[in-house]
Amino acid sequence: MTAQDPRRRIPGVDRLLARPWCRELTATHGRGWITERLRALLDDLRAGRLPVPDGDEGFAVLLRAEVARAELPSLRRVVNATGVVLHTNLGRAPLAGEARRAMAAVAGYGNIEFDLDSGRRGSRYVHCAELVRERTGAGDAVVVNNGAGAVALALSSLAAGRGVVVSHGEMVEIGGGFRIPEVVEAAGARLITVGTTNRTRRADYARAVEQGGAGAILKVHRSNFAMSGFTEETGLAELVALGAGSGTPVIHDLGSGLLVDCAALGLPHEPTPADSVAAGVDLVAFSGDKLLGGPQAGVLAGRTEAVARAKAHPLCRALRCDKVTLAGLEATLALYRNPERARERVPALRMIGTPVGEIRRRAEAVLAEVNGEVGGAEDRVRAEAEPVAGAAGEAGAGLGAEIAEGWSLVGGGTFPDARLPSAVIRLDAGEDADAWLAVLRAHDPPVVARSRKGQVVIDLRTVAPREDGIVAAALRSIGAKILPGG
Ligand SMILES: *Cc1c(COP(=O)(O)O)cnc(C)c1O
Repeated sequence: MTAQDPRRRIPGVDRLLARPWCRELTATHGRGWITERLRALLDDLRAGRLPVPDGDEGFAVLLRAEVARAELPSLRRVVNATGVVLHTNLGRAPLAGEARRAMAAVAGYGNIEFDLDSGRRGSRYVHCAELVRERTGAGDAVVVNNGAGAVALALSSLAAGRGVVVSHGEMVEIGGGFRIPEVVEAAGARLITVGTTNRTRRADYARAVEQGGAGAILKVHRSNFAMSGFTEETGLAELVALGAGSGTPVIHDLGSGLLVDCAALGLPHEPTPADSVAAGVDLVAFSGDKLLGGPQAGVLAGRTEAVARAKAHPLCRALRCDKVTLAGLEATLALYRNPERARERVPALRMIGTPVGEIRRRAEAVLAEVNGEVGGAEDRVRAEAEPVAGAAGEAGAGLGAEIAEGWSLVGGGTFPDARLPSAVIRLDAGEDADAWLAVLRAHDPPVVARSRKGQVVIDLRTVAPREDGIVAAALRSIGAKILPGG
C-alpha cells in the first residue's frame, strides 16, 4: 500500500461501531449482525471491490446499502412479464383479491379445527368440502397440500398392496419429478401397464382386471403433451362400467382443476372435475393452483366412501394444508358460484381472457411513459424505431423498442398447444439480451421477462394493470444503467 492509497483511510470496525449512525443501526438490527455486515463491507473496501468513500457520511451510506441488500428476503414478490400465465417458477396462479384478503384474515388465529356452533373441536377437512361438492357434484371432497399429494393419497388409500392398471400411453411425467410409475410404486402399489403407447382399448383394461389383483384403474390426463395420429384411448365412462362389474375403483388424475367452460376463454376443450364425477369415477384429483386459480393445493373429490377412506389414511394427515391455504382456496372456490364473476375475478382466467387489443393499448401506454421520462435520448430513439405493420408502437428510450405480435402461453403443464395471441414490447438488445434481463430482475420489485434471438420480450398479459408503471420504471432503468449517455 502506497502512502496515497485511499485504503489507508479505512477506519477499524470498533471506531465505526462507535459512530452515532452505526449505533442507530445496531439498536435496530443487533450489534452482532451489524458487526458482521461492517466486516463484510470493510473486506470489500480493502480488496478494492468498492471505492473507499471520502468521509464518515460515505461509510454510513455504504453500510446502510449493505444492510438493505442483506435484508432482502429470499422469497419476494415479482412482476411476471413472461406471458406464461401459470408460471410454475413464479408460483403458478396469482390469487384473486378475495383470496388474498381471506388469507390475511386468518393469519392470526382461525377456526381451522374448531366448531364455532358447538364450541368443540372441529375438522379441518370441512372447510372447502361443501364448495367443491357444489362445483363438481361429488359426494364429498378433501383438500391436501398439492395435486401430486392428492394422487398419491388416492392410490395409497384405495390400492396399496395391490395392482394399479394404467395405459402405456399415460405413463407420463408431469414436471418436478412427478412420474406416474414412481408415484404408483411410492404408494405401495404394483403397476399393471396395459395397451400400447398410442392405443389402449377397453379390452386391454378388461383383461388386466379379469386376471385379478387390481386395486384400482388409474386414468391420467395428458396435461402437458398432445398425441395425434393413429391413437385410441378408453373413456372414463367405459372404465367406470368396467370397474363396477369387478368392484375395481377408478381414479382420475385430472391435473388442472378448470371449473368454467373453456370455450368462453377461447381455449380448446378441457375436461372438468364435474365431467369426471358425472362419468362416475370413485376419486378425481386436481390442483388448486392451475386453472382453478387458487393457492397451491390438491383436491380429491368423488364418492363419499372413497373420500372417507382417503381421510382415514395416515398420508392425509402428512399432506394436510394450513389455515391460510384453506382460506385462500375457499375464497377462490366461492367466486365460481357465478362463473362470469369467476372469469373476471380469478386473475389466471382474466389474464387468459384479456383481448389482445387491451394488451396492445397498455403496451403503448408503457412505451409512451418510457419515452416521456427519458427526454434526451428520445430523438435518437425515435430515429431507430421501426414499428411493425399494424402496430402503433412508439420507440422506447434508446432501447430499440417496438410493439409486435407475440404469443402468451397458459403454462403450468396445461394446454401445451394453445397459443394466446398477444401484443408484446420487443427491445432490440442484440448481444446484451441477458444483461438487460438482469437489469429488469435487479429492479425492485424484480421484473421477469424472456428473450428470443437477441430481443427482450415483455408480455403484459401476465402483468396486473396496476403493475404497468413498475414495468415502465424497470425499462427506464435499462436506459439509465446500461445505455451510453443513459
Ligand atoms: C400438475 C399435475 C399433477 C401434479 O399436481 P401438482 O399440484 O403440481 O402437485 C398431477 N397430475 C397431472 C395430470 C397434472 O397435470
